[in-house]
Amino acid sequence: MRVLVLSDIHANLAALDAVLADAKELDYETVWCLGDTVGYGPEPDECITRIRLLGAVTVAGNHDWAALGRMEVDDFNPEARRAVLWTRDNIGAENLAWLSSLPSQPLVQGEFTLTHGSPRDPVWEYVLYPSTATANLAFFPTPFCLVGHTHVPALYVAQSEDQKASLLRPTFGKPMPLRGGTRAILNPGSVGQPRDNDRRTAYAILDTDALTWLPRRVAYPIEITQAHMRAAGLPERLINRLAFGW
Ligand code: ZN
Repeated sequence: MRVLVLSDIHANLAALDAVLADAKELDYETVWCLGDTVGYGPEPDECITRIRLLGAVTVAGNHDWAALGRMEVDDFNPEARRAVLWTRDNIGAENLAWLSSLPSQPLVQGEFTLTHGSPRDPVWEYVLYPSTATANLAFFPTPFCLVGHTHVPALYVAQSEDQKASLLRPTFGKPMPLRGGTRAILNPGSVGQPRDNDRRTAYAILDTDALTWLPRRVAYPIEITQAHMRAAGLPERLINRLAFGW
């Protein structure tokens, strides 16, 4: 089965549509979405509707929780708080109900465990280093785990059960074999707010039979998203960072 793997769409419809257009020719049969469908961006309602229409298997992220009021906005900095409150007011009742139905615990799909942050701490922990990846190997039952949350595409591969995970940088546009390692934690990067100094949207196509991971990057009209954010009165810093891929 070929799976379109999306994460951290962050209410960026232009980016999501660019991904869907690019992935069209890659023959995927199903969609997995690793959370943070909303937050930061100008089209939370539209992005949820797209994901629902795709029938994507989806988990909850920290920004989805914030939009649902499951955490204190006082913990956010003033700009982030403004964005959270705006997001809350711009999601329809039906889409809010869908958002609140998303699991916050890891979901197992065959050989793959799906979670937003990490299998150890699904909504909050960032898997940004090989040491964190290694510590998390004991927390999922399947050979592979898919995470988002960092907005940085990455593969952490462990060659044996008791070995440390090492970081493999993704080769965009080229399928990477997963058979070489016994366990791996894979991150497709962020559709709507990349943070690896590459402004292009990021996603991956997973082939669960051939066991390959195809990381992709696609340019999208950032200025459209930025104009919509400005019109919505979202914070300038959040608008500017999209152009830097950070
Ligand atoms: Zn995120």
